[in-house]
Amino acid sequence: MAEETIFRKIIDKEIPSDTLYQDEYITAFRDISPQAPVHILIIPNKLIPTANDIEVEDEFLIGKMYSVAKLLAKQEGIADSGYRLIMNCNNDGGQEVYHIHLHLLGGKRIGKLVS
Ligand code: 5GP
Repeated sequence: MAEETIFRKIIDKEIPSDTLYQDEYITAFRDISPQAPVHILIIPNKLIPTANDIEVEDEFLIGKMYSVAKLLAKQEGIADSGYRLIMNCNNDGGQEVYHIHLHLLGGKRIGKLVS
C-alpha cells in the first residue's frame, strides 16, 4: 500500500496551510515555496501517488482537479492573463511529493519548457 505524505496532514488540517478550496474530493492550497506570484497546488483527497497510478475510476477526480484550477485562476485574477498547469511524475519529472498534485502557476509570464 502506498505511503501517505505531508499532503495528508494538510488535507486533515493537522499542519497549517493556506487552503483556498476544499470539498469532499479536492483540496487546494498555496505552495510553501512559490515559483510564481500565484502558485497553488490542487490535489485529490484520495492518495494517488503518481500519474502512473491514475485508474479509470479516478477520472472524475482528475477532471475535478482541472475544474478547481479554473475556478481558482479566476479567483486569483489570472484567468485572462494566463497560467500554467503542471503535474510532475516520478524522478525525471521532478516529482518530490508522492501524492499527485496539479501546480497552478501564474501572475507572471512562465518560461516555456516545450515549444
Ligand atoms: P513536486 O516537485 O512534487 O511536483 O511538487 C511538490 C510541491 O510541494 C513543491 O512545489 C513544494 O514546494 C510543495 N510543498 C512541499 N511540502 C509542502 C508543505 O508542507 N506545504 C506546502 N504548502 N507546500 C509544500
